[in-house]
Amino acid sequence: MTWHASVLTLFPEMFPGPLGQSLAGKALRDGRWAIDSFDIRSFATDRHRTVDDTPFGGGAGMVMRPDVVDAAIAAALAAGPDRPAVYLTPRGRPLDQAMVRDFVAGPGLILLCGRYEGVDQRVIEARGLREVSIGDYVLSGGEPAAMVLLDACVRLLPGVMGAAASGEEESFSPKGRECLLEYPHYTRPAEWQGRAVPPVLLSGHHAEVARWRQAEAERITCERRPDLWARHIETAGRDRAPAA
Ligand code: SAM
Repeated sequence: MTWHASVLTLFPEMFPGPLGQSLAGKALRDGRWAIDSFDIRSFATDRHRTVDDTPFGGGAGMVMRPDVVDAAIAAALAAGPDRPAVYLTPRGRPLDQAMVRDFVAGPGLILLCGRYEGVDQRVIEARGLREVSIGDYVLSGGEPAAMVLLDACVRLLPGVMGAAASGEEESFSPKGRECLLEYPHYTRPAEWQGRAVPPVLLSGHHAEVARWRQAEAERITCERRPDLWARHIETAGRDRAPAA
């Protein structure tokens, strides 16, 4: 069955947007995934097509109404049941590659894109929405976050990436690199603007190359991401210093 994404948004014309290009776009045209968008405003019931209202308790901004959002979720579920419904929000669990793999293993996703101050809490609870954040910053709407999540998912769908191995070797992949950032890459020319490619990569010694890449991945992770490095040490039982 085709992996199916439904996006609930006030701006349905934003989709597929960038997801219609390049790798995700080709996969879409090849039928490896499908996307539809639901205009939340079309589920408003008053003649002004109101989707938001002022927050109880006062304060700035507007809140998306639970009844309107709920009707949009019901329509998406009717188009493809048994898919987890996700609300993109800075308050959510941070998106990571393990979560992406989990989403890819299922039949697809329903993605709710907030606007204004967000959606009424009751619809989050009533629908059991999974709250997911793409990072500790605030976007003006959930649409770019939905695109980020979908891009990360689509490239892992079977047959989407050219080389089957490329998803397994990269940052955050299983195969022992779960908590490591990727090592640096080089291609031709072997020397460019006085900068040479590390000689080991030209040596033809596969074991040495693998050792160098592991050491570089550890060095970069230790320098840039102490949080990941601490997890790597914990899971791999390594010393504090990266391999030489
Ligand atoms: N009042 C909210 C807060 O302080 O957490 C921010 C609302 S934001 C202006 C509007 C919408 O953008 C949110 O409802 C959410 O759907 C989306 N959004 C903003 N930042 C996001 C992030 N880091 N991850 C996922 N979605 C985000």
